[in-house]
Amino acid sequence: MSHTTTVAGTPVDTRHWINGVRVASADGATFADHSPIDGTELGQISRGGKPEAEAAVAAAKAAFPAWAATSPQERARLLHAIADGVEKRLEELAQVETHDNGALIRSHRRGVMPRVAHNFRFFADWLTNDLGHEDFDTNTRRNHVSWDPAGPCVLITPWNAPLMMESWKVAPALAAGNTVVLKPAEWSPLTASLLADIAAEAGLPAGVLNIVQGYGAEVGQALTEHPDVRRISFTGSVPTARHISAAAAANLTPVSLELGGKSPLLVLEDADLDLAVELAVEQYDNAGQVCLAGTRLLVHESLQEAFVEKFVQKANSLVQGDPRDAATDLGPNIHPRQLEKIDGFVQRALAAGAQAVIGGGPNTELGGLYYRPTLLTGLAQDAEAVQEEIFGPVLTLQTFADDDEAVALANGTRFGLAATVVSGDRAHADRIARQLVAGTVWVNCFYVRDLRAPFGGSRQSGVGREGGTWSFDFYCDLKNTVTAQ
Ligand code: NAD
Repeated sequence: MSHTTTVAGTPVDTRHWINGVRVASADGATFADHSPIDGTELGQISRGGKPEAEAAVAAAKAAFPAWAATSPQERARLLHAIADGVEKRLEELAQVETHDNGALIRSHRRGVMPRVAHNFRFFADWLTNDLGHEDFDTNTRRNHVSWDPAGPCVLITPWNAPLMMESWKVAPALAAGNTVVLKPAEWSPLTASLLADIAAEAGLPAGVLNIVQGYGAEVGQALTEHPDVRRISFTGSVPTARHISAAAAANLTPVSLELGGKSPLLVLEDADLDLAVELAVEQYDNAGQVCLAGTRLLVHESLQEAFVEKFVQKANSLVQGDPRDAATDLGPNIHPRQLEKIDGFVQRALAAGAQAVIGGGPNTELGGLYYRPTLLTGLAQDAEAVQEEIFGPVLTLQTFADDDEAVALANGTRFGLAATVVSGDRAHADRIARQLVAGTVWVNCFYVRDLRAPFGGSRQSGVGREGGTWSFDFYCDLKNTVTAQ
């Protein structure tokens, strides 16, 4: 049986990568990976289980002492070499990712893959330039704070931005001197395999980065229960986070959780309407499969009519179609199960009395997994479509009469990942921003991320923060050495 599949002209190894070598699962098990574009089978991928989890953690544990002892400069050099490899293979990575998860080739070329390379460069440079070793003295004692590598880390990632999320975790974990076992999502396993090739070409020592493929409930569960794992960083859904937290609790393994959201986009009465509409329509990006998306449009009642008119006009101009076409704005959703889930939310909302201003069902002209961009109105705050993450191109619109009501609606879910405020008055926007429960608040912009800043969610949107020094705080054991003077 061949262990390579060719996607858009690029050969991709379908096996695990453990201790620097390619291995199939011990029992030979595989799972099928399908493209959301047209359902084509892209390959049979090795389906890991407990033996693969054991082997990968053992490799990471064995490689840890030497990697932790490698100088920060050498670790940074290797991370930059990985970034070089990503840049060299950018077009191949963009093509393979688009075939695998259906996100736009345009975004992968311009934004996502350059950001993958940047993640490696940023954490390499942060390690060598910014991660100070703090000293503070009294007359009689010196306190020296150091960030010590923690050990093998398990990184578990979702399918909506596969290589982006993977590099966001792999880069700081490796920079910190840890070894890694990465488990990509089973709906988008391919670019992680290319990352293994790139890391090997860059000269990363065997066992420092291990990649196991398979289902969360199988190899994922075995990894999170493993007693030799020192950190678990997870990005995904709230129900999975509960399983992982429970598994980690047995060993008290520290866990970082980046979870779902139901973020508000507030259009205050002094907002620039064109900007508000532009930002609102941007929430359909990646066919709505963005954790940070401001899916709840909260609009001051005086602006509702004009806002909806402009919104409909702009949303109707979006081009829906094949994500390989650079002119496409809106591609398919990831999987038939996801499309069914999205439509379930919409149909239940409509049956309960909501109105679809636009959309309201799959795009039957395109067939496949395309869902029409949808805007729902007539929903109460406790409606399911307002409270639950839909993870598709579905926005809700509610109005408010004053700032207090806006803040109450904005904060009125169990999530707290992000929020966007659109206002022509900086002081007004700041007053609102201070009252919002969210890991990130954008004012008159959306999605811009500075990797030096903390990133994460409040309430059920997550536990902990990553980014800049916060990533190193998580991936390291901080130690204070107190020396008598
Ligand atoms: P998911 O929770 O179903 O799966 C995520 C990963 O967890 C996959 O790799 C899966 O195999 C694994 N997994 C599943 N069960 C497991 C178990 N018992 N033990 C160990 N691993 C297990 O999430 P998804 O559907 O892939 O991703 C969508 C979700 O991710 C959305 O809720 C979205 O908001 C969230 N997300 C959050 C962020 C963020 O930064 N906050 C970013 C992207 C996506």
